[in-house]
Amino acid sequence: MKIKFLGTAAAEGWPGIFCECDVCMKARELKGKNIRTRSSCIIDDKYMVDFPPDTYMHVLNNGLMLSKIEYLFITHSHSDHFYPEDLELRKNWYAVINSVPTLNIYGSGKVGEKFDAVNEGGDRTPLKFNTVLPFTPFTAGDAKVTPFLADHMKDEDCYIYTIEINNKTLLYGHDTGYFPEKTWEALKGKSIDGAIFDCTYGPLENSRGHMGFPNVLEVKKRLIEEGITNKDTKYIITHFSHNCGMLHDDLVKMASPHGVIVTYDGLEVEI
Ligand SMILES: [Zn+2]
Ligand SMILES: [Zn+2]
Ligand SMILES: [Zn+2]
Repeated sequence: MKIKFLGTAAAEGWPGIFCECDVCMKARELKGKNIRTRSSCIIDDKYMVDFPPDTYMHVLNNGLMLSKIEYLFITHSHSDHFYPEDLELRKNWYAVINSVPTLNIYGSGKVGEKFDAVNEGGDRTPLKFNTVLPFTPFTAGDAKVTPFLADHMKDEDCYIYTIEINNKTLLYGHDTGYFPEKTWEALKGKSIDGAIFDCTYGPLENSRGHMGFPNVLEVKKRLIEEGITNKDTKYIITHFSHNCGMLHDDLVKMASPHGVIVTYDGLEVEI
């Protein structure tokens, strides 16, 4: 399974869109891996997780043909993860699409409401929204996908997904906090080959809503103890906020000794 990270920042982007803090100023100067856009990724050129407002820039920077994406999984309705206004542009007249007639989109009921509010008129054939429920697996092409609950918002089911393709399983989670007990219970028996974690707070401790690296290590430890991951599992952190105060190289110095990969925009990981 090939995972390409298009964006790796929290909601503000990095540098933050309006921010003058030290690390944002430093990122503007150093550029490279210190420039982070809002989080999403593409799996095996066919599946996508989240649709942030930077997607058009991702298309330009990575030479993507988004028309080829068949399945889109949305974690939650925050605008840095779901920007349905741009999905409208897949409809007839705005786009000529010969390859994949319908983009299937999956998310919670709340995500569906946000989708409906934007996609009212016109022929909806090029887009199909599918409401998915916590802990209820579904099939998308060759993938078996299961949504698990994250600890992120009180009034919405926010999802961590496991995506299983060809005997490989990816756990995709950001905006999660430390996993709720119900999720731990449901993860029993899974065998995860790659785990992507929320590390919004960088080196800082934080377990509710988002995580920092100390909390990522707690999740990693428990995954190992419960036999959900194995010795070959890749552990990956993403969704960084500038408020964590660390540039890319410092994040790598922090995470590498613990066997954890730090993402950057454009990184490809094979599991
Ligand atoms: Zn976010
Ligand atoms: Zn800043
Ligand atoms: Zn969020």
